[in-house]
Amino acid sequence: MDVCWQDVRKSGGSLSLSQRLELPRVQAENPDVLDITSVVMQGTAESTGRRMRIHGVVTAQLTYKCSRCLEPFIQTLSTDFDESVTTDPQQAQDEIWLVNADCFSIDPWIEQVVNLAIEFCPVCQPDCQGLCPLCGNNRNTHPCNCVEDVRDVRLTALAQWVEDSDNEPVDER
Ligand SMILES: [Zn+2]
Ligand SMILES: [Zn+2]
Repeated sequence: MDVCWQDVRKSGGSLSLSQRLELPRVQAENPDVLDITSVVMQGTAESTGRRMRIHGVVTAQLTYKCSRCLEPFIQTLSTDFDESVTTDPQQAQDEIWLVNADCFSIDPWIEQVVNLAIEFCPVCQPDCQGLCPLCGNNRNTHPCNCVEDVRDVRLTALAQWVEDSDNEPVDER
């Protein structure tokens, strides 16, 4: 969406923003994201002199692929954003963007905050049991009786040695 200085000034320096936008690249660029609904941005633009602060909340429903069991699940993404712009080159810094136009798009910022809020290694539930590495069953829905024997060979040898020494005849004297 575009924010225009003119509109913000006309509203006495504070303008409510409400916008729904599509961010198809979020899904295309994140393999763990299977789907994303339209993103809703609600916030406020406040101008003081040549500065404007735009802040609010961005929400969307995301369908993730669980990184353990690979099943899809839906989660709400909700994240704050807060950006400042200026038309004065003297005031522009790392956190304050210089804009020369009367109207400018804030879509790239919204896309950035959504990308930053995406779950890394999403899980469908905190105690998701994942897939069985032996039979491939989803252990949440199909518990299996596979026994994972992943003991280290050296530990197995040690266990054998301990067992053997235990069996040695004990000297009576
Ligand atoms: Zn899962
Ligand atoms: Zn199994």
